[in-house]
Amino acid sequence: MYPAPFEYHTPSTVAEAVALLGKFQDDAKLIAGSQSLIPMMKLRLVQPKHVVDLRKVPGLSGISEAEGALVVGALTTYRAIETSELARSRFPILPETAGNIGDAQVRNLGTIGGSLAHADPSADWPAVTVALDATVKIAGPRGERSVPVEQLISGPLSTVLEPAEILVQVRFPLPAARSGSAYEKLPHPASRFAVVGAAAAVTLDGKGAVQRARVALTGLGPKVSRATAVEQALQGKATSPEALQSAASRAAEGLDLRADGTGSAEYKAHLVAVYTERALRRAVARAVER
Ligand SMILES: Cc1cc2nc3c(=O)[nH]c(=O)nc-3n(C[C@H](O)[C@H](O)[C@H](O)COP(=O)(O)OP(=O)(O)OC[C@H]3O[C@@H](n4cnc5c(N)ncnc54)[C@H](O)[C@@H]3O)c2cc1C
Repeated sequence: MYPAPFEYHTPSTVAEAVALLGKFQDDAKLIAGSQSLIPMMKLRLVQPKHVVDLRKVPGLSGISEAEGALVVGALTTYRAIETSELARSRFPILPETAGNIGDAQVRNLGTIGGSLAHADPSADWPAVTVALDATVKIAGPRGERSVPVEQLISGPLSTVLEPAEILVQVRFPLPAARSGSAYEKLPHPASRFAVVGAAAAVTLDGKGAVQRARVALTGLGPKVSRATAVEQALQGKATSPEALQSAASRAAEGLDLRADGTGSAEYKAHLVAVYTERALRRAVARAVER
């Protein structure tokens, strides 16, 4: 099906884009990589009267380091993240995540900001950004504000973004020494969206015990969630395979797992423990190397 008719706008600054969104409010939709918006428009699940294209706004893409953070522009494509040496040197989890999303077209066009703003409950970036304590910079009619990704996503395909706000940056605070992170997912065989995805970030103390752990899960509920039972079980503990397995076995605690086309609730509870353990093992191995 073709999308319903719409007017196409190409602002050349963020301020211009914000003004267009402010003018057209709920009748307008931003477009970035187009990989979720266009399919939804073709299915007539959304029918914006105005489409505001961010791709001609300079300064919204690129990866740099500033003020103790890796700063990734919202319009940065997965392919750019996958091939960034800076991203690889600071957070190997980022290119690894980018390289396992969808297919080549999705990776060439899809953007990290578009994925976070779209807030698909099975998307990869929400889990990875929450595990890394990332925040997003948002531009709107009243200026700029920063919001942790954990607070940005409010439900399935919902965020706290106001109608005239634009996500402009994702900031990953640089980790302390002896930190490592990793992402593991079971990809859906058709789309490669996560049936289950687990992102783990750990910092070890001088004796090799866990000083800090963050585990975030995707694919298992209405939005990304923290596996706090796993995080607490790891706190202060050694990183033996047994300890990691025991902590990971608690990954489903607090989740309201339901059967769907990808499996039963019991199957998902099993998967999330397995994928969390795999992510923890690789995160710890990376922390030991650093
Ligand atoms: C075949 C296929 C396979 C896929 N596989 C995966 C996968 O394995 N893992 C995964 O995580 N995702 C997957 N995706 C989804 C993909 O990652 C999308 O690219 C992503 O969800 C949206 O990013 P986008 O840049 O394409 O955004 P768009 O489609 O352009 O926009 C999506 C939504 O976000 C809004 N938006 C976009 N940018 C901004 C911004 N800067 N500020 C505020 N709002 C904004 C738009 O208005 C729209 O509502 C797949 C998609 C397809 C088509």
